[in-house]
Amino acid sequence: MKKIFLCAINNILSGTCKEDCKFCTQSIRYHANIQRYTYKDITQIVAEAKKAKEVGALGYCLVTAGKGLDDKKVDYVARTATAIKKEVEGLNLIACNGTANKEQLSYLKKHGIDSYNHNLETSEEYYTKICQTHTWSERYETCENVKSTGLALCSGGIFGMGEREKDRDSLLQSLASLSPESTPLNFFHPNPALPIKSRNIERNEALNIISKARSLLGNNKLLMVAGGRELLFNGYEQAMFDAGANAIVIGDYLTTSGISPSSDLTMLSALGYAVETQCHTSKV
Ligand code: SF4
Repeated sequence: MKKIFLCAINNILSGTCKEDCKFCTQSIRYHANIQRYTYKDITQIVAEAKKAKEVGALGYCLVTAGKGLDDKKVDYVARTATAIKKEVEGLNLIACNGTANKEQLSYLKKHGIDSYNHNLETSEEYYTKICQTHTWSERYETCENVKSTGLALCSGGIFGMGEREKDRDSLLQSLASLSPESTPLNFFHPNPALPIKSRNIERNEALNIISKARSLLGNNKLLMVAGGRELLFNGYEQAMFDAGANAIVIGDYLTTSGISPSSDLTMLSALGYAVETQCHTSKV
């Protein structure tokens, strides 16, 4: 029976970012109507991680808003990872904390982080249209740092932000050059506060991206449909899995609601899929 890997997200520091990514409600520049807080209580995070594990999550991603890590944030994420690993067995912990150097990444690894997520977001050519406060090459460099420290790399992007097909192909090629253990594919979720007003992607194009990604990234990697799944694939999940996806995000996203875990578990069972309970790569 084919198995699907489930990954849950916890936004542990939300909505306080000074960068200008035009797709992101967590930038303070766009005044989106979202929850904003710093440093969620670690006891609460551990309790939320336990709940995610109970509904089948194997990956658990600790996300902080902001351009990258600093000493305080590294210490906080490391303490959170250690607390989760002590209390919850069998979760693969992913940190997603922006730009990171090798020393910071090694510190996180030492304290229980298994994988680091840093998305390239879009093609190198289109990147300046969606962000002016930092560069695509900084993103790529962080991904290389992740690999060199021995953490599993999780890197993907967002589709439907006004980019052309050649940008989508270019992004997939760049991702393939990094050979990530896991690749999240997000489909832009419009918000009236954001400068990018609409989503230029249809279901058939998204399916095409999934199958291109699968053939470029190889069969032994995780290919995850993440943000925007509920907008494009609700009721069409079989097509998404047939195209090559073998992982999904369950529960809520960073600032938008997802499908309830119980509905997703019902959907997977109705389609004849089991929930993955073990990692098959050595790192993720
Ligand atoms: S750096 Fe990250 S948190 Fe900040 S605006 Fe960009 S995507 Fe959002």
